[in-house]
Amino acid sequence: MIVVQFSSLESALKHFFGYDVFRPGQKQIIEEAINNRDLLVIMPTGGGKSLCFQLPALLKPGLTIVVSPLIALMQDQVDSLQDNGIGATFLNSTLDYATERSRQQAILQGKIKLLYVAPERLLNERFNPFLQQIVSHVGVSAIAIDEAHCVSDWGHDFRPEYRQLRQLRQQYPKIPITALTATATKRVQQDIIGQLRLRQPNVHLASFNRPNISYEVRAKDSNSYYHLLQAIKQQSGAGIVYCLSRRKVEEVALKLKNDGIDALPYHAGLSDRERANNQTSFLRDDVRVIVATIAFGMGINKPDVRFVFHFDLPRSLESFYQESGRAGRDGEAAKSVLFFSFGDLKKIDYLIAQKPDINEQRIAKQQLNQVVDYAEGTTCRRTIVLRYFGEIFSGNCSNCDNCLNPKPTEDWTIEAQKFLSCVARCEQKFGMRQIIDVLRGSRSKKVQQYGHHLLSTHGIGKNKTLDEWKMLGRSLLHQGLLSESNDGYRILKLNKRSWEILRKQKSVTVAINKPANSQVNKAY
Ligand code: ADP
Ligand code: ZN
Repeated sequence: MIVVQFSSLESALKHFFGYDVFRPGQKQIIEEAINNRDLLVIMPTGGGKSLCFQLPALLKPGLTIVVSPLIALMQDQVDSLQDNGIGATFLNSTLDYATERSRQQAILQGKIKLLYVAPERLLNERFNPFLQQIVSHVGVSAIAIDEAHCVSDWGHDFRPEYRQLRQLRQQYPKIPITALTATATKRVQQDIIGQLRLRQPNVHLASFNRPNISYEVRAKDSNSYYHLLQAIKQQSGAGIVYCLSRRKVEEVALKLKNDGIDALPYHAGLSDRERANNQTSFLRDDVRVIVATIAFGMGINKPDVRFVFHFDLPRSLESFYQESGRAGRDGEAAKSVLFFSFGDLKKIDYLIAQKPDINEQRIAKQQLNQVVDYAEGTTCRRTIVLRYFGEIFSGNCSNCDNCLNPKPTEDWTIEAQKFLSCVARCEQKFGMRQIIDVLRGSRSKKVQQYGHHLLSTHGIGKNKTLDEWKMLGRSLLHQGLLSESNDGYRILKLNKRSWEILRKQKSVTVAINKPANSQVNKAY
């Protein structure tokens, strides 16, 4: 391999990939990778993670091993590297003997800079001698572990074989490791670092904002299919419609087809062949819309998906973000629409209540509540989503329904003071429902049991309805004027800003959200 000298990383970027500038974060990560640091790279889908190990691989002597969980994903990346004239290949169980042999030879002859393998293969006893040959003949410049959250059972896609990867560190302690993921929770991060035995890794957490995706929530009523159809007709380009069940996927795909939309279903109940065919048709633009369950996900690398519609409620805000994030990976404008109804909410609530494990129920409920917060939110949707990832976004993104069509606001300072002082009187030990019951003068069993009917705040909020108080409570939470415990019980807690309101140092405005129908929201 001819070693090309570059005057700068930018010129190397241009040379190998044809891009002029780095995306945010990429350059520093690449510099650190070249300096053999262990790295944990957390970037949203489409953020450009691959380049973070691909460019260092090209600039360092030896070969970089890339661990990737899905055959389709490997194939995809290797194809596009080869299109750029880069020596890349993969080894997995789909290859016949002759192909495998010839690839192994190419590797040992130093023709390959990036070798993609599945984790189970890498740790296979038969593969081990070959790995040692690579190390001694050509050298391994780094190990990149893609989709590294698979190592964590706290993530959404735990794969036991990923756990074994720690053996690599034991066997080859000198080879630096770059772990990459789009999952941003703290817990998963810690798990990745611990499980893979990363050595004082530099952690790069990119912003999860996807400015080119517009966010919108639409009310879903009895005529919902018609609204979906209209929405798709108004949209150009390819899109994904997510539904909750296989049955619903089939039904919606069929209806769309009958209504002249080029659509195919995708769910785990189809045969492997059918699934693969439908996926390929979508990737090749032979079909415009794929109607899918969450089975359609990781590894779908189609950069020009223009819209992702959630026709049913997603399970969590994390899945909502990941799923809607499949839109607009090319950086062009794309759309996320969530169709929301209280009826759906009740259905899911019911399903959660069927779960045998109480702890599982609690987590599922907490996750669902975060989705409801998003759906019912009156502030910038982007702010709500990003806060979930621990990111402070100051709002007014000009690219979500709430920013573009703000709801009318009213001064509710007095109500907020009542609400917060009731939280204080209840010693910050209760959730929203109890606080509102006390404010509205309820004599429920739970109110009396705790003696809350004797509090000075009991009954001071009779002038507002249950829904109005909920609207205020959620608004306070969204605006960060009130906090809640995140243990699933959603205990309301006063924070510094709550006290400013109580001390009359701060006023409160609330966006008035008139719900599509005013049924009681059972999730709270
Ligand atoms: P991720 O793995 O983080 O989801 P990818 O690595 O697949 O994202 O990158 C998403 C897209 O962005 C790809 O099409 C990739 O070629 C492109 N890309 C990455 N870095 C750059 C860059 N610096 N300039 C332009 N396009 C880039
Ligand atoms: Zn916004």
